[in-house]
Formats: sequence, structure tokens, C-alpha cells
Amino acid sequence: MTNLRLGSISKLSQTQAVSFSADQSSQNFRSHVFCEHKMRRYLTQEAYDRIQKAAIKGIPLSSNIADQMASALKAWAISMNATHYTHWFQPLTGITAEKHDTFHELTDSGQMLEVFDGKKLVQNLPEDLPTAKGGERNTFEARGFAAWDLKSPPFIYGHTLCIPAVFVSYTGAALDYKTPLLKSIRALDQAATSICRYFDKNVSSVEATLGWEQEYFIVDRQLALTRPDILLTGRTLMGHEPARGEHIDGHYFSGIPNRVLRFMHELEQECHQLGIPVKTHHNELAPHQFELTPIFEEANLAVDHNILVMDLMNRLAEKHQLQILLHEKPFKGINGSGKHCNWSLTNSEGMNLLSPGKNPMQNLQFLSFFINTLVAVSKHTGLLRAATSSGSNDLRLGTEEAPPKVLSVFIGQQLTHVLEELEHVSKGKLSPAEKTELKLNLIGKIPEKLLDNTDLNRTAPLAFTGNKFELRTVGAQANCAQSITALNAMVAQQLIDFKDAVDRLVEEEDMKKDDAIFNVLRDQIKDFRDILFEGEIYSASWKEKLQKHQWFQANDVPDAVGVLRDSAVVDLFDKLEVLNPQELEVRYEIRIQAFLNRVRVESRTLGDLIRNHIIPTALKYQSVVVSNVGGFKTIYGDNFQEHAQEQMEIIERLSRHISALHSGTREMIETRKKADTINDQTKRAKVYAQEVVPFLEEIRYHCDKLELLVEDNLWPLAKYRELLFLI
Ligand code: ADP
Ligand code: MG
Repeated sequence: MTNLRLGSISKLSQTQAVSFSADQSSQNFRSHVFCEHKMRRYLTQEAYDRIQKAAIKGIPLSSNIADQMASALKAWAISMNATHYTHWFQPLTGITAEKHDTFHELTDSGQMLEVFDGKKLVQNLPEDLPTAKGGERNTFEARGFAAWDLKSPPFIYGHTLCIPAVFVSYTGAALDYKTPLLKSIRALDQAATSICRYFDKNVSSVEATLGWEQEYFIVDRQLALTRPDILLTGRTLMGHEPARGEHIDGHYFSGIPNRVLRFMHELEQECHQLGIPVKTHHNELAPHQFELTPIFEEANLAVDHNILVMDLMNRLAEKHQLQILLHEKPFKGINGSGKHCNWSLTNSEGMNLLSPGKNPMQNLQFLSFFINTLVAVSKHTGLLRAATSSGSNDLRLGTEEAPPKVLSVFIGQQLTHVLEELEHVSKGKLSPAEKTELKLNLIGKIPEKLLDNTDLNRTAPLAFTGNKFELRTVGAQANCAQSITALNAMVAQQLIDFKDAVDRLVEEEDMKKDDAIFNVLRDQIKDFRDILFEGEIYSASWKEKLQKHQWFQANDVPDAVGVLRDSAVVDLFDKLEVLNPQELEVRYEIRIQAFLNRVRVESRTLGDLIRNHIIPTALKYQSVVVSNVGGFKTIYGDNFQEHAQEQMEIIERLSRHISALHSGTREMIETRKKADTINDQTKRAKVYAQEVVPFLEEIRYHCDKLELLVEDNLWPLAKYRELLFLI
């Protein structure tokens, strides 16, 4: 039997960069999207206007208009050679779900007709989708229907017309990520619009914006195929760190291998056809790690585009004989992958509400949104942790320059100074002199462009970066809707509370509106001062602050996700009608179950690898050494030990590690099986986190030692140095 790993390495030199028909012309942008100008071409003016209106108001289409839209879509899709259509949605398990139907239907008289009408467009009934099940409660098992999300235009992917959709049960319960995201966007729109109207009566809406930065690793596919752990769990469960690590050479922006460049170019081209405005790629900190960033968009569309990008990456990589690793921590000891989420708010007048403005009033508006976001976050640090926690992302958070699990916020010196000054504003009505002073010398002096001084603090979990907040704890393979929904909801509620407080001062204390705003803002600063941290996250001063303020800490997934059951979180989502308590509970259970599944698969995969790959390999090598010692015995008789000391030591070390692997694997399996007898899912997850997960580390330690001991030619799994440096 040949060694798969050595075979893959020798094939590498023959693997060529894959060509594709490159066409980077800007005309291709949105060529595969049923965007506005195509809608105008295919629809009557009236139908177009009514669809736009329905999208803006969030109301359903009448059947007549839905029929017109469906037939327009069908005509366009067929002209683009599409043969199928699908409602494309984001289930709570997996990345996307699709059920493809052809446009053809058999009529009673036996003719094939192309049929696609309004009913099919607006809602479609997926059957027996795994997404509809999965939990331990009946609520999941309700079958659901998918309905077109009017805010996200249909697009063609391969030969399929994809209709971005929400997925809800017959009872109306959300079964996906999109439904609560849209509701949180609406809640935030309403709350933020009413604040904007303090400053500008023309404002009619506010939109959340999102720019994600997708990090990922690329490895050679042949090499990846030698690693069952990569294929089954998305990460390496063993592997010794390479001698040449990430810190030795500056990988940032260093040369990208040709095969990878071709893949990236094709990916960008496909992204542009689908209307995804990606613009940069460069090497990240670790070898073979890259990042793809788009120009920011409205949050709902940005989430759709991120999901689409992850899917595209996987599909295209296969063509280029590459393997994408979206896992947050594919390699131990090496920088992991996140998906920084840049978030802001734009009003209907095109103003970024988290950007300082041109005059004192605009800056007061900026401070209102800036400060209220901070208050919201400080009230819900646990929810933000819960939103970003997962079995895979928790391996990344808090290691190798990733943000820690505990939330703190970086805002930079200039704004820290503004807040300090603001705290000294007098209570009650402001004198004309004080107001002039404030407007001229405090808020009037906030520079329009705040210097982005975050570079030293790339590890802050949440950072204000001049005109947006950047949430850095989101995991690379996550659906970022989960975090953005949480952020939108907490800020929406905070803005509602802020408005109540301001209006009360205006009515009850007869204050002027801006006096009231100053008063409320001043009082709020103390609420969030504790979560601000400007220093080095991995320093002693941070740990000190952590202890002093007893920041919310959840060390494992069950604890982090457990926050979803806190009454403050349940009330927040319920009050805003983003998720009702039952929908939230379903989410909690799915998250716990995902954690259990992940650990179970990792532990099984590791057990199999140890028993079928590692121990047999180590034994094979041991018998080589044993026969070598036998040779010495033949030559030197009883004196052989004198000449074969090293060999004897190798034999002993091999034995020690083999035996540790044997017993460790056995104990891990027993512990897991025992945990599986616990009926309560939450308790079972806790035992998995505390007792099963540590075995993964312990076992890998011995395995990694063996990797260093055993003759290279015998080792069956691609090593870190090969995965990370060969393409
Ligand atoms: P850099 O941090 O490299 O200087 P930028 O500040 O332009 O780059 O932005 C980084 C990311 O933040 C990009 O994805 C960008 O689209 C996004 N971004 C910029 N402005 C906003 C905004 N107002 N809302 C949301 N995302 C934004
Ligand atoms: Mg960033």
C-alpha cells in the first residue's frame, strides 16, 4: 500500500494552475442579478412601483403583481439559460438550503409547459428538509414555507434561478437566520429614524450597513484528502507546528501563489456577476491565509452576499484542486480566521450616523448614536458573546492574537477625551454660555475624520474605527446574521429608551431638546465606561481590569449560549418582536445540539485516526527499530545495549506514547458514551465541554510527539509544513 501523503506530495509538482475564461469588465457587475434596471425592462412601470413600495414598507405583494413579477423573472431566467428555480434560504443548521424545481410542468393533455407563477414565487413549500427538524422539540418539526424576501434580488447561480427567501413554519415561527434579521433591521429603522428626526425632519428611514471581512485558509486539495480530520471536522485534530511559523516571515501582503491567484480571480469574477462588490484580497498573518472584503452594503443584502461567497469559495476551490478551510481554528498554534463585521447606520439622507459631521448639531447626532450603541453593548455583553460563540470559534477566541472571549470596546483617545468632557456638562437646563462653549469647543471640535488609531489594537473584540463599529469576535464560518441581529436589537431598544428619557425631560422639565439630549448623554457615560479598554488585550492591565469589573465571562459554549435563556435577552427580542420566547428557545437548543454534534464528530474522528492510522504507523516504525536492535544483538551479543542506547530510548518513547494514546482514546470514548446517557441536553453539553473536550488536547499531545519521532516516510497524514507551505 503506497503512502497517500507521499503520493499527494509528489503529485503537487504536476498540479497546474487551472485556467478559466477571464472577463473582468465592469459590465459583468450584476449580470446574473435581477436588479433594478432589469426589473424596469421586464415589468410595467406600475408593477415595478408596487414591488418597490411593498419592499420598502415590508408588505406582501398582491397576487396580480406577484404573477407579473414571476413571469418577468421566468422570461429573464430562461434568457440566461436557467432551467431550474429554487427558494434560497438560510436554515439554522448548515449554510444554505435549496430545493431545485424545474420550470417545466406536465399539463393534463401531456404537454410540457414552462410554469412559474406568483404563488410559486412568493411562497414555496420545501418538503422534508433536515432544517425543519433537528431539535428535540416538536416546534422544529413543523414543516415550513419559504417566501421571497423582497429586499434581496433574485439571481442566477449555475443554471438555477435563486430566490432569496425567509423560511417560516406554518404557524409563522422563524426557522432561519433571515427572518429575525429582517425584523431587527425594521426595529432599528423605526427607533433610529425617530432619533434622527430630532435633528432633521426630512429623515424617513435608517438602514443598518454591514461590511464583512472574510478570512479563510487555502490548502492543496490532494494534501487535504490525506487528512480525514480536515474532511470531517474542518480542522486538524493533530499535527506538530512547523519549524517555520507565522511569525518568522512577514506574510502580510506577500506574494500569492499562482494557483491561488487564479482561484481568487475567478472567485472575484463570479462575485461581480452576482452583484457582490468584493474588492481586496491579501495574505493574512498566517501562511496560506487570505481575506476577502467587499464594499459595505445594506445589512440584509450583505449577509446574503457573505453566505453566497462562502458557498462560491467551496465550489470553485474544488475546480482549482484547492480546499478552503473556513473553520475558525484549522491549525493549532497558528492565527485563526474571523469575519470582522463592520457595522454602521445610514439615514435616508445618505448620512452615516456613526460618522462625525460638519457642524455641532450633526456631531450631537453622531454622539447620540455612538453613545447609545456603547450603552446597548454594555448592557448586553453576554448576548454578544452568545451570538458569536460556537464549538469552532471558541477555539479561536483568546488565542494567537484573536480577540478574547470577554467583551471590551476600543474607541480611541480622541473620543475618550470627548466623553470625559461631556461628563462635566451641568445638570438641568444649560446656560446659553455653556451651550455655546460646548458647541464650539467640545462637539464642534470633533474632527470629521477621526484618525483610525486602532492598528495597535486589532485584537479588541469591538472597536470604533472612525465611522463604524467593527465586531471582531464573529467566526469565519458563521452566518453573521446572528451577531448583526443581536446588535441591531440591542441598539434599537436602547434608542427607544433614549428617546423616552429625552422626551420626558422635554415634557416634564420643560427643557429644550438639545439640553435634554446633553443631559441624557452625560448620565449614560457612567453606564458603559467600564467596558472601554484602550490597552493591549493580552496584557496584565487587561486581566486586572477584567477582575476588577467582573466582566461577563463564559468559558465554554454551553455557558455562552446559556445567556439566550436570560430574561433580559428573552425580553429584548420579545419586546421588539424579533424573536418570541419560543423561537429563541429553539435557537438555544439548536446551538447546544450543534456543539454536541461537533464534539462528537471530532472525538470519533480522532479516535478512528489514532486507532487506524497513528498507532499502526508508530508500531510499524517501532518494529523497524526493534529489528535494528536485534541486529546489534547479533553482532555484539550481551553488550548490544552499549551500542544501541538511542534505539532503545526511541523504542521506549514510542511505547509510552502508544500506550497513552490507547488509554486516552479508550477513556475519551467511555466518557462520551457515559455523557450520552444524560437526557438533559444542557447538562450533557456541559459534560462534553468539561470532560470530553480536554481529551482532544491530551490525545493530540502524544500524537504530535509521535509525529516527531516516527520516520517521515511512514507518516500517513500531511504535516503542517506541507499543508501550510506547499501549493
Ligand atoms: P480599512 O479598515 O482597511 O481602512 P475600511 O475602513 O474602508 O478599510 O473598511 C473596512 C471594512 O469596513 C470594509 O468592508 C468596508 O466596506 C466596511 N465599511 C466601511 N464603511 C462602512 C460603513 N459605513 N458601514 C459598514 N461597513 C463599512
Ligand atoms: Mg478589520
